[in-house]
Amino acid sequence: MNFNKYIKIIQNWYPIMYSNVFKSFNINLYSIPIFIICLMCMSFNNGEFSFFKYCLIIFNLIICTCFSYFYHYFSHMEISYPLTYGYMYHHKNSQNIVSIILETIYEIQLFFLLIFLKILLQEYNIDLWFLDNWYIFLFYFVYTSLHQINYSIFHVNTIHEKHHKNYFTNLGPETADMFFCTKADDEIEDMRHFIPNVIIGLIIIYFLKKYWIKLDDNVQLNCKYGFIYGFAGLTILSLFINIFLCNEDLQEYLKNDLNSFCNKRENIKEIIKKKN
Ligand SMILES: [Zn+2]
Ligand SMILES: [Zn+2]
Repeated sequence: MNFNKYIKIIQNWYPIMYSNVFKSFNINLYSIPIFIICLMCMSFNNGEFSFFKYCLIIFNLIICTCFSYFYHYFSHMEISYPLTYGYMYHHKNSQNIVSIILETIYEIQLFFLLIFLKILLQEYNIDLWFLDNWYIFLFYFVYTSLHQINYSIFHVNTIHEKHHKNYFTNLGPETADMFFCTKADDEIEDMRHFIPNVIIGLIIIYFLKKYWIKLDDNVQLNCKYGFIYGFAGLTILSLFINIFLCNEDLQEYLKNDLNSFCNKRENIKEIIKKKN
């Protein structure tokens, strides 16, 4: 085994990652404490702050960050087509309303897949207790609203626009891009624009939790089954949309290719004619 090769990779990776994290820490010096407090708001058990719950929320943050990063990366690999082709459609038509709705459906699928697996495995007595459904919902809300509102409507910075130009850079969240060295350039995100999204997400979850606790067990069970069937239905729907979009692009590509082939053939004929 060539250990020197791996040592070299780590030696190249570490200074880039460290310098990005350091710059991000300086830029977000005042936003980070606000996010820490927001995470603490999710860490209350029966009205009391629980340090264990806080660690669990941090763990959920790491899981959601890695899951969304790798899923997004995978969705841009040709091997995943046509299952995830809608992502390509979004990147080519980012201002179009159909693409915004589609991308929102894909993001619902992406995050609710974790909750779906958790509920499904519970049926087989496997308890993924460490996954916090409410936190996953918060992460999804912040992720999607940042994408569809902050980046796509308000254009708060050019971080996400660069991803639309080069799919394998700035995949987001930025911490994952820093860690896996997939940043497009030196632009470091000022995360102040995350604050309203996080606070609105926390308020929505607060009221949803209150409402959920008041429901009786049967209604909660029906909601869970409704969620499973709804998620499965959405997955089938998005699969059909992806196949349709992939087929449309493929047809166009083949048509263009055929046209260029016919043009080339005509040109060759002309050249032969002139020579004769
Ligand atoms: Zn986008
Ligand atoms: Zn993408």
